[in-house]
Amino acid sequence: MSSTPAPASLLLCRYGELFLKSGNRPVFERMLVNNVRAAVAGLAGARVESPHGRIVVHVSDADADEAAARVSRVFGLVSLSVARVVPATLDAIGEAAIAAARAGAERRPRAGRAATFRIDARRSDKTFPVPSMELAKEIGARVHVALGLPVDLHTADLHVGVEVTKRGAYVYEGTRPAPGGLPVGVSGRGLLLLSGGIDSPVAGWLAAKRGLALDSIYFHSPPFIGEKSKDKVVSLARILAKWGALRSVTVVPFTEIQKKLRDGGAGDLSVVLYRRMMMRIADVVADDLGSAALVTGENLGQVASQTVENMTAIQAVSRRVVLRPLTTYDKTETTDLARKIGTFETSILPFDDCCSLFVPRHPATRARVQDAEKIEAELDVAGEVAAAVAGAERMMVV
Ligand code: ATP
Ligand code: MG
Repeated sequence: MSSTPAPASLLLCRYGELFLKSGNRPVFERMLVNNVRAAVAGLAGARVESPHGRIVVHVSDADADEAAARVSRVFGLVSLSVARVVPATLDAIGEAAIAAARAGAERRPRAGRAATFRIDARRSDKTFPVPSMELAKEIGARVHVALGLPVDLHTADLHVGVEVTKRGAYVYEGTRPAPGGLPVGVSGRGLLLLSGGIDSPVAGWLAAKRGLALDSIYFHSPPFIGEKSKDKVVSLARILAKWGALRSVTVVPFTEIQKKLRDGGAGDLSVVLYRRMMMRIADVVADDLGSAALVTGENLGQVASQTVENMTAIQAVSRRVVLRPLTTYDKTETTDLARKIGTFETSILPFDDCCSLFVPRHPATRARVQDAEKIEAELDVAGEVAAAVAGAERMMVV
C-alpha cells in the first residue's frame, strides 16, 4: 500500500465556444482565467492554472464544494468536475476511483438496481507505464470487485474519470453543468437599467452571458417609493454579482423629474416620458462608467407601454445601442430563467417601482416622438438630467 497522500482537490473546468473564435482565442482564454480567479478569490490557497485547452483550480478539500459552486457560475465554462489529486500509482488511483464511484452512487441512487459505471482514462503523462485502455480496464476491475457495480460502456450511470499527469493523477465522478456563453468582459461594458421586477435581472444575466460586463442604474422616487424597493434592487444586483455579471448600482433620484412631467401634463405619455428621461440619464452615467451599451428588461407586448412604437420613441434619445435580451421571451420563459439564476424570490417581494407612480390607467401604446418632445419642450431637460446625475450615489456590490 502506498502511504496516504496529502488531501487535495482540484476543479477541472471545460470550455467550448471559445474555440470557434480562433483570432480572439488567447484574449478570451485570458479573460476566462481571470474570471475564474475572481470567482475563487478569498478561498485560502486556491490556485488557478490554464494548461492547454482548459482551466484547473487547485483547492483544499474543505473548500472544494464552495469553489465548485462559485466556478459553476462563471460564464464561458460549459462544465466542471471535482477531482481528487492522488499519486500516479495503480493503487492510489484505484482507491480514489472506488471512493468516487461510491460517492456518485450514494448521491444519485437508482431505484431497485445497482448503478452502472464506466471508467474514462486519459494519460497526458506518456511516461506513465500503463496505456489508457489498459488503465481503464484495470481500474474498472478494481471498482467492480470493491463495490459490486456492473460496467456499462454505453449508458453508464456513473462516469469515473481518471487522468494521469506529470503532477499526479486526477480522479473524479461525473460533471456539473456551467452556464456556457462567453467570458464576461469580452464584449465590453454595458449599463443595465435595473428595476426591482422579474425581467431586468434576467435581461442582465443574459447580456452578461454574451460577454458584457455590467454596471447597473436604478431610478428611485422617494418618498413615494420606499427604501425597501431600493434594498431589493441592491439585493438583485448582489445576486448578479455572484455570477460575475455586475459590479455596481448607481441610484439616481427621480422624484423631481416625475413630478415635473406630471405637472407638465404628461398624461397618457407619462411612462414613455419617464423612460426617455431614464435613457438620457443612463447615457451620461454610461459615459462615466465606460459602458458602450444600455440593457433593459423590456419585452415586446408584455405591458401596454412596451410596443415597438414606444420603444422607438424611448430609444430615440439615447446615443447608445439599447439591448433588450427579453424582447422575444414569453413571461413563463423569463420566470423559469429567473428561478434558475436565483433572482425570482427577491423579484417577487412586494415593493413598488417608480413607473407605477403618477401613471394613467390607460397609457399610450403608440407614442409619437413629436408628442413627447412637445411636453419636454416645457421642461429644462438638460438641467433635470444634470441635477439627477449630480444627486446619484454609487454602491459597489463586488
Ligand atoms: P421589470 O420586471 O424589469 O421591472 P417590467 O416588465 O416591469 O420590467 P417595465 O416596468 O415596463 O417592465 O420596465 C421596463 C424596463 O425599464 C425594465 O426592465 C428596466 O430595464 C427599466 N426600468 C423600469 N423602471 C426602472 C427603474 N426604476 N430603474 C431602472 N430601470 C427601470
Ligand atoms: Mg417593472
